[in-house]
Amino acid sequence: MKILVVNAGSSSLKYQLFDLERLPRAVVASGLCERIGIDGSNLKHETGDGREYNVEAEMPDHTVAVKLVIDALLSAEHGVLSSLSEVDAVGHRVVHGGEKFASSVIIDEEVKQAIKDCYPLAPLHNPANMMGIEACEKAMPGISQVAVFDTAFHQTIPNKAYMYALPYELYKKHAVRRYGFHGTSHAFVSEKAMQLMDNPNAKIITCHLGNGSSIAAIDAGKSIDTSMGMTPLAGVPMGTRCGDIDPAIVTYLSEHENLTRAEIDSLMNKQSGFFGVSGVSSDCRDLQAAADDGNERAELALRMFCYNCSKYIGAYTAALGGVDAIVFTAGIGENTPRLREDMLSKLGYLGIELDQELNYGKIGDAQLISTENSKVKVYVIRTNEELKIAQETAALKS
Ligand code: ADP
Repeated sequence: MKILVVNAGSSSLKYQLFDLERLPRAVVASGLCERIGIDGSNLKHETGDGREYNVEAEMPDHTVAVKLVIDALLSAEHGVLSSLSEVDAVGHRVVHGGEKFASSVIIDEEVKQAIKDCYPLAPLHNPANMMGIEACEKAMPGISQVAVFDTAFHQTIPNKAYMYALPYELYKKHAVRRYGFHGTSHAFVSEKAMQLMDNPNAKIITCHLGNGSSIAAIDAGKSIDTSMGMTPLAGVPMGTRCGDIDPAIVTYLSEHENLTRAEIDSLMNKQSGFFGVSGVSSDCRDLQAAADDGNERAELALRMFCYNCSKYIGAYTAALGGVDAIVFTAGIGENTPRLREDMLSKLGYLGIELDQELNYGKIGDAQLISTENSKVKVYVIRTNEELKIAQETAALKS
């Protein structure tokens, strides 16, 4: 079964074409349209066997971008399809499904309206995701479109964990509550860990640590809590996002720094986190290099990150009533043995014992890094959100 996975941003569109019968080498082609609606747009396309193509073409909107993607997939020169009808379905990443969607769905008019109803909750993401959906509907009539939500996996979180202690009416009026994000990734890596442990009832803490980071508590395959909140700003410090802060800081800064709502929003989302604390960069690699050169603020930003991740792991051990496995994933989680070591260094009391040789060794797709005697298994599992979207889409199609 061939599934096209689309992740549309406001000026970009990423795609991967999967042939799920060819797992584990299921990617037939992938690519990225950049600068949609901006001068100088281009399409980078790569076939599954590594041939790369660059197409410079005007992309005034997502509809044109999707047409160019289809042209690339069908191209006589480097195409991977002989006809568009070979595509069985298209899976779209949609960031916010609100309370309406606890699983993936085939897109119809009602679903589209529900995604639009969530625009206020994800003003930067959902409208862009919708542009991708509508462009594919136009360019591929008759082919099923499926929405896979970042929030859906966390809809099992109980109300004691998703409610904020604000006046209850605000939950009813504005749907102010925790939703959580990165659900596709937390689901993918926790399923993999459950398979590796051969234990469908395992209590797992998944740490998706990338540019955006979130940690989730998963009990028998169900998310019961997660660090991001109503928006992806909450939780551990991130590349440019501040994560959890005292909410009173918002009103304090607006008064004493004379900041508008938009300025505070930008300060917390774009100028904080690794970047804000270190003054160096939002990128973990740059921070590690600067810290190695003796930059104290870069070192501080990394220590704050590890400390906060540790605190969440401790908190979620309490929420789960124990923990069987801790999973690290995404850019930082998969690639920074020193930070993994730091995060777990105070958690020996839980019976966690890292195997340093494995931790610092070559990391496979799903790598155990704890010792044989460790009471808690620690894994590094490479996330693959696109594959998970393709699998969810295929499950709805068949
Ligand atoms: P996104 O949230 O954008 O998908 P990623 O999961 O790609 O982000 O993670 C990006 C982060 O991972 C960046 O901070 C980057 O520095 C970090 N990262 C990626 N590779 C490495 C590496 N080899 N060593 C340290 N950090 C890395």
